[in-house]
Amino acid sequence: MSYDKNNIFAKILRGEIPCKKVYENDHVLAFHDINPQKKVHILVIPKGEYVDLNDFNNKASDKEIVEFNKAVTHVANLVGAKDKGYRVLTNIGSDGGQEVPHLHFHLFAGEKIGKMVS
Ligand code: AMP
Repeated sequence: MSYDKNNIFAKILRGEIPCKKVYENDHVLAFHDINPQKKVHILVIPKGEYVDLNDFNNKASDKEIVEFNKAVTHVANLVGAKDKGYRVLTNIGSDGGQEVPHLHFHLFAGEKIGKMVS
């Protein structure tokens, strides 16, 4: 699938739509999910144009991949999830249930996350 520049996260990255920002650096943006599924529900996204994790791993530079992964840990620390733990999840494609075609990791925390898959 080619990257759709009009997806909602691309609009957030361009500043066309607001978000509740948690963290940002040159490579990554993290913000609160608009429809939180747990007490803490953050989305961590790369700033580059990648449809999903496969696209990212195929095309992103090593620097982008490292920065993205490090940002997940950094954001977990920022929201106080370091000690009690948290869950990271990414949906890929239609069977995976992906709705927004820009790579994002969901970070759930702040309570017991529960069953792995429902
Ligand atoms: P997925 O189904 O993995 O693609 O998840 C997309 C997520 O994006 C859902 O959890 C939505 O609630 C979330 N979402 C959609 N629009 C926005 C928005 N404008 N700001 C923050 N989160 C959003």
